[in-house]
Amino acid sequence: MSICEVLRIGHRPERDKRITTHVALTARAFGASRIYLSNPDSRVIKSVEEVVDKFGGDFSIESTPNPKKVASSSNLLIVHLTMFGLPIDTKVEDIITEGRDILFIVGAEKVPAWVFELSDYNIAIGNQPHSEVAALAIAMNKLYPNSYNTEFDGKLSVIPSATHREMKDSS
Ligand code: SAM
Repeated sequence: MSICEVLRIGHRPERDKRITTHVALTARAFGASRIYLSNPDSRVIKSVEEVVDKFGGDFSIESTPNPKKVASSSNLLIVHLTMFGLPIDTKVEDIITEGRDILFIVGAEKVPAWVFELSDYNIAIGNQPHSEVAALAIAMNKLYPNSYNTEFDGKLSVIPSATHREMKDSS
C-alpha cells in the first residue's frame, strides 16, 4: 500500500477527545502511516500511542499548531472529506489514476475556506452530514481496498473467533 496520512483539523479538546481518538485509530487500522492533529491534546496522543505500543504498526501521531502549513507544505495529493464535495464514486478512478500518496483532511466543526481551496479533491461520502470517522473509513476502503486487513505484528493480536474474545500476547 502506498503512503497515506490524515490531517484532523478543528479538534476541540473539551468535546472531541473520543471522536478524534477514533479518527486516529481508524486511520491506523485502515493503513495510514501518520495523523496530524491540529490543537494539541495529550490525552488523545496517549490513547493512540498505547494502542500502537500494544497492537503494533508504524503509525505516528503529531500535533500541529498550523494545519494550513502542514497541508500547503505536503507533497501528497490532498483529499478533503466533506459533505459538500463531489460524490466519491465519481472520483475514485481519477484519484487512483493520479498514482500519488494521499493526505486526507477531515474536520470537526465547520472547516475554514482554505481547506476547500487548497485541496486537490473535495470529496463527499454521500451528501448528508454524518461523521469524520465514517467518512474516513469509507474513503480509505474505496481507495485502499482491503487495507483494514493489514497485519500489524504487535505484541497483542486478536485470534478471530465466532464465539468469544481471544488474544495472543507475544510480549
Ligand atoms: N457542518 C460541518 C461542516 O461544515 O463540515 C460538518 C462537520 S462533521 C461533524 C465533521 C467532519 O465529518 C467534516 O468536516 C467532514 O470531514 C466529515 N464528514 C461529515 N459528513 C461527511 C460526508 N457526507 N462526506 C464526507 N465527509 C463528511
